[in-house]
Amino acid sequence: MALKKVTEYLILGNSAAGIAAAEEIRKGDRAGRITIVSDEKAGGYSRVMLPLYIAGKVSKAETVIAPKAFYTDRSIRLLQGETAVSLDPAARRVTCASGKVLVYDRLLIATGASAKVLKLRGKELPGIFCLRKIEDAEGIRKILRSCDAPAVIVGGGLVGIKSLEALLHLNRPVHLVISSDRILSQMLDRTASDFFLAAMQERGVRVHFHSDVKAFRGKEAVQAAVLADGTVLPCCMAIIGKGVVPNVGFLRGTGIRLDQGIVVDDHMATSCPGVWAAGDVAEPFDALLGKYAPSPLWPSAVEGGRIAGANMAGAAQVYPGALRMNSVELLGVRVVSAGAQEGDRILIRKNRAVYRKLVFVEERLNGYVLAGDIGCAGVLTSLVRNRTAVTPDTLEEGLERGFSYQPRFQMLGGHIEALQSQQRSAT
Ligand SMILES: Cc1cc2nc3c(=O)[nH]c(=O)nc-3n(C[C@H](O)[C@H](O)[C@H](O)COP(=O)(O)OP(=O)(O)OC[C@H]3O[C@@H](n4cnc5c(N)ncnc54)[C@H](O)[C@@H]3O)c2cc1C
Repeated sequence: MALKKVTEYLILGNSAAGIAAAEEIRKGDRAGRITIVSDEKAGGYSRVMLPLYIAGKVSKAETVIAPKAFYTDRSIRLLQGETAVSLDPAARRVTCASGKVLVYDRLLIATGASAKVLKLRGKELPGIFCLRKIEDAEGIRKILRSCDAPAVIVGGGLVGIKSLEALLHLNRPVHLVISSDRILSQMLDRTASDFFLAAMQERGVRVHFHSDVKAFRGKEAVQAAVLADGTVLPCCMAIIGKGVVPNVGFLRGTGIRLDQGIVVDDHMATSCPGVWAAGDVAEPFDALLGKYAPSPLWPSAVEGGRIAGANMAGAAQVYPGALRMNSVELLGVRVVSAGAQEGDRILIRKNRAVYRKLVFVEERLNGYVLAGDIGCAGVLTSLVRNRTAVTPDTLEEGLERGFSYQPRFQMLGGHIEALQSQQRSAT
């Protein structure tokens, strides 16, 4: 009798998407061989927690999301410090920079994204960082121990704002340089951004809107950032957070359909048989935006990885679609936003302490922003996610009457639940 062939699963990337996928594959296939490849030497850790590590709110050990036992308990082979440099989809083979060749039956690309590199004079000077990896956080911690000049944060997105929060926690003077007119411009409108601005200014942060750094100056290390209008900001450190680019370089010429990232269908399958993608590297269809778009957020990476893993192991699970949802707490101000910020009808409620924006398209809630009181975020998120029909008047009335429950930061999988509670207690 012929033996049933054991399936070879190969996962590139050992972070939110890759780890969630491996866990799900093992649930669906007890016998298959699972290999995870990572170009990092560190084990699986949470990038979301890097600012907390910089602030000294958590230890390095607490950033770990997949300890050794995660791999051994599930018989997962982890190859660390190996970079995939080419893929031959016809031969079902991945080659690494070391020359190692890995064959697969089913491949998941979960290589995430890298920080966007700006073409700035002086950007190679020591003291300038893009916060993406644990080594970056180590480097920032080291500089913070040896100098007390101000830091410059370039970019008002999640990475910039979370870095700023870490530095303020350490009582460091900070300049924030933002090219747009608001903080967290992908997520907030001007009014919600002003809630943060007021809190930051109270803490002495100097915010430079409509501004860009055009160069860094220094001899042996960075000593100043020069803005486009000529303003010179003395500093001993800069953190650049100007967005991310999906890690797809090694896939060019393979025939896999690429946009900015890897285009995937609602099963997280790529255009190439036997190859799935998930996380920051993938571009699923975004029903609210009406196009394929990346959703570079931790919960989307976990959910996408989980769905990809289940399908790789033979299930037929459909990705419900990425929902751009984010919740940030900075200097005591809580803000949550989800979905699209443009629509047919926009309802705003605002007073000194609370701001609420509801965005409707054809009597469906398409997105929202809450600042101050975020108690109804859970209800609003489920209305957006489920595309529930609701008239603006009915919803407003319900909110005024106070139907609400606390939002749940959506992270899935056992180890992710652990991360979730660590995050809650840390923030
Ligand atoms: C400082 C910071 C704060 C953040 N805060 C939040 C937040 O508050 N909320 C939120 O939702 N999201 C946040 N994010 C974003 C979140 O961390 C990402 O969305 C998430 O990490 C994406 O997971 P991933 O598995 O797709 O990829 P990644 O986490 O990017 O991991 C991909 C892995 O693949 C490896 N790799 C890349 N190329 C190769 C290759 N060729 N061969 C082998 N390995 C390779 C990478 O080195 C990396 O280890 C934050 C990110 C940062 C950096």
